[in-house]
Amino acid sequence: MLVVGAGLSGVCVSLQLLKRGCDVTLIDNQINHSSRVAVGMINPLVFRRMTKSWRVDEFMPYLKSFYKNLEKETNSSFFHAVPIRRLFSSEQEREFWLKKEKRDDFSDYMTLVDQSDYDYSAAKNPFGSGRVKESYFVDVDVLYKSASNYIKEKGSIVNEEFDFAKLHNSSYKGVSYDGVIFCQGYLNKDNPFFKDLPIDPTKGQVLTISSEEIPEDVSLNRKCFILPRGNKQFKVGSTYEWHNTTTNITEDAKNIILENLSYITEEKVKVVEQIAGIRPTVKDRRPTLGTHAEHPYYHVFNGLGAKGYMIAPLLSEEFVDYLLKGKELDKEVDIGRFVK
Ligand SMILES: Cc1cc2nc3c(=O)[nH]c(=O)nc-3n(C[C@H](O)[C@H](O)[C@H](O)COP(=O)(O)OP(=O)(O)OC[C@H]3O[C@@H](n4cnc5c(N)ncnc54)[C@H](O)[C@@H]3O)c2cc1C
Repeated sequence: MLVVGAGLSGVCVSLQLLKRGCDVTLIDNQINHSSRVAVGMINPLVFRRMTKSWRVDEFMPYLKSFYKNLEKETNSSFFHAVPIRRLFSSEQEREFWLKKEKRDDFSDYMTLVDQSDYDYSAAKNPFGSGRVKESYFVDVDVLYKSASNYIKEKGSIVNEEFDFAKLHNSSYKGVSYDGVIFCQGYLNKDNPFFKDLPIDPTKGQVLTISSEEIPEDVSLNRKCFILPRGNKQFKVGSTYEWHNTTTNITEDAKNIILENLSYITEEKVKVVEQIAGIRPTVKDRRPTLGTHAEHPYYHVFNGLGAKGYMIAPLLSEEFVDYLLKGKELDKEVDIGRFVK
């Protein structure tokens, strides 16, 4: 198989194909705009609505074994547990949490609020706070280094721009493949076969800050998240700038993030770095997986949105089962949903 794009999508799909003994050639132009900018947080809850994340009960156990196996196979360490503390923004939000924490279907993800959560004083905590169970982060630099070496060993990686003019049916530059899987993130907009899929670019910017006072043992969350990265450095983010395909960092975004941060802490912080990327998002918040209606050799795996690190491991397995064994795709992710 030929896989185009070595972000999270292309890497997960390649790893799943290799696991099943397929030949894999992965092409990437090395201008990644999302997976390597991402913070890599994995949070089972959606705080805004105080709901569980989509299919979280399936995604969580799968991603844990997927990342841990990859760590083992590549002798590396990139998958880390990090507790998240949600600082409630109002009494109403606290009441939502208190209702949900008692439900059986939330008990895997919410710790029961106790007095210590009202007394917590390492951050602004006027309404109390709740602790999330089962939250993680992926160190994206280590993941891509390890996974790329692994894929290079078992298959091949070509660093170049994919040239659509050199693609004829299932043959690319004169080499024949079983199929071509496009995993181009928001750059799907330039793909002549799949450009009509409604994948919207959502720009995001993240700061790295340093602070002497912010706690390093927890990811604090209110209006924004703070992820401790050691040596008194923290990632803070991120912005959501819809339909924006520029990749520059902006003063506006920095000020928004710092303003959001002021709801968590009054401590003076120093901005060390600012980066920007573009998430491939879809209006119905579901990824876009499937095969072109008129070109059976061309497939697409895209639209991971803002929670790629949670959903890509299992979805890539389901996608490869669909390609190799003809297993039906989840209707919610199948690109067939856009065909009138
Ligand atoms: C600021 C920010 C923070 C985020 N934080 C999180 C987070 O904490 N947790 C989380 O789960 N998700 C997060 N995300 C979302 C996550 O990054 C995405 O869900 C996911 O990484 C998308 O991966 P992808 O492989 O589909 O796309 P991409 O990462 O964009 O990868 C596509 C790849 O294809 C290559 N490509 C495209 N066209 C061509 C071509 N013609 N020839 C060769 N190569 C090509 C590109 O160069 C790129 O490497 C964040 C995103 C942003 C921007």
